[in-house]
Amino acid sequence: MPELTIKPTFIKQLTGDPETENYPRPVAEFFTYVHPAHPGDPTLHHHISELSDELRLDSNDSSFLDYVSGLSALPDYRPWAMNYAGHQFGNWAGQLGDGRAINIAELEGKTQFWTVQLKGAGLTPYSRGADGKAVLRSSIREYLCAEAMHHLGIPTTRSLALVTTGDKVLRDVLNDGHPAHEPGAIVTRAAESFIRFGNFELFASRGDKERLQELLDFTITTHFPNLTNCSDNVYLALYEEVVNRTIELMVEWERVGFVHGVMNTDNMSILGLTIDYGPYGWLDAFDPDWTPNTTDNQFRRYRFGNQSDIAYWNLRQLGRALALAIGDADSVQTTLHKYHERFATDRETMYRNKLGLETTQDTDAELIASVLTLLEEQPLDMTRFWRHLSQFDETSPGNHLSLITDDAYTVVSETDKTKWLDWLDTYAARLRTEAISQSERAALMNKVNPKYVFRNYIASQVIEAAENDDYTLFRTVYELLKHPYDEQTEHEIWFQKQPAWARDRIGCSQLSCSS
Ligand code: AMP
Ligand code: MG
Repeated sequence: MPELTIKPTFIKQLTGDPETENYPRPVAEFFTYVHPAHPGDPTLHHHISELSDELRLDSNDSSFLDYVSGLSALPDYRPWAMNYAGHQFGNWAGQLGDGRAINIAELEGKTQFWTVQLKGAGLTPYSRGADGKAVLRSSIREYLCAEAMHHLGIPTTRSLALVTTGDKVLRDVLNDGHPAHEPGAIVTRAAESFIRFGNFELFASRGDKERLQELLDFTITTHFPNLTNCSDNVYLALYEEVVNRTIELMVEWERVGFVHGVMNTDNMSILGLTIDYGPYGWLDAFDPDWTPNTTDNQFRRYRFGNQSDIAYWNLRQLGRALALAIGDADSVQTTLHKYHERFATDRETMYRNKLGLETTQDTDAELIASVLTLLEEQPLDMTRFWRHLSQFDETSPGNHLSLITDDAYTVVSETDKTKWLDWLDTYAARLRTEAISQSERAALMNKVNPKYVFRNYIASQVIEAAENDDYTLFRTVYELLKHPYDEQTEHEIWFQKQPAWARDRIGCSQLSCSS
């Protein structure tokens, strides 16, 4: 194994908190040095060897468990927690920071720079009255979902290792005043950077233009070096890049039916990564109004169909923060105003790909809008509907109706069957204007319409087994999610619609923020 290449970067180029005592407080600087809590009896349950290789960490060595459980620090590196703020559920929340994430390394991997952090390793000055810990169920959800996202080809933080700490953590899972002890766990996760919109908002909110600019300069030179050649306002160029990356991410989430659940500005990555997997969910039935987060039931701010508008709202907050450094609020506005048009164009291209259309026609927007309306009215299982569409035969559109009725969650009425037949006829006519063969089209469609996503009912079964110390299903599901676009006929059961038992079960249909 080639030598580990530790490269202190954030902590070297930016100023740390002079106070090293660990108690909750406002912090003026960029980060605070902290020590991970000592785990009582750590056990490594899984790790991603492809990522440990990339990081040049020897996962066969006993030191690996020490690092990923917080038992010992990596050589020549001092763990730290990051300072950031954020808007939560539309309201300014002030300083938040890494309340239970502790960064244990910055290093040069084989292909890129990485920051590695433990989630659930104990208190930091940003823990604000909470315990700094994480429970096994939420750790499993983060660990597997991030990897599922990666293998779907969607920008995300990665998972490196899952350990149980041997300590118990008290949580009120139903938020009903009945807390109980649960197994504590740590996910070690990695990304080029964990900087969030909220890092910039923190300094802007304090009118601290100097630190805001320092952070911007750091972000650009470290993570967006190509922007440094930009002749105009480099901060504005960064903003435009973040707007574009965020649009791409929103389109990708929509493509696969992912609902983040807590799109607060502190959970928005400056690199456009999916970050902080909490009460997220995947659509079973196609329902734009669905949110997995019980805390958000009242206003459904973070529902599936609202994610793009929320991303825009979040980008507006980021723009307001950056305006202090950019100095020209009008240019920020102009950049932001390109959002909706670009999103609409990218989204249409995404749906055209899902429909297997290679060419562009004026009527495509209507074709897309009408199928989404039908999907919602019925409702149909989103993943199955799109995956099955690659089997569509334009010479006999009516034959597809049996798949539609199979994938519906309710009985399809005769009226609805007629509506579907109309749409299938229109789609068939549209496909006949394309040059590629049906099999070529099917191959292309199967690369954008995944067969397997990390459905909530799958997560719930993995968690139930793991809480009884059986990780067999965990490993099976991990392997399954590594190839989401492949048929994997031996795993066909994980392609089924949400089973009836899962419909009202906590953890399958909705989740609280208690993690
Ligand atoms: P989240 O909604 O999980 O992204 O968390 C929002 C803020 O609360 C972040 O600053 C987290 O670090 C912090 N936080 C969440 N859970 C805990 C916990 N158990 N202990 C300490 N801080 C936490
Ligand atoms: Mg967060």
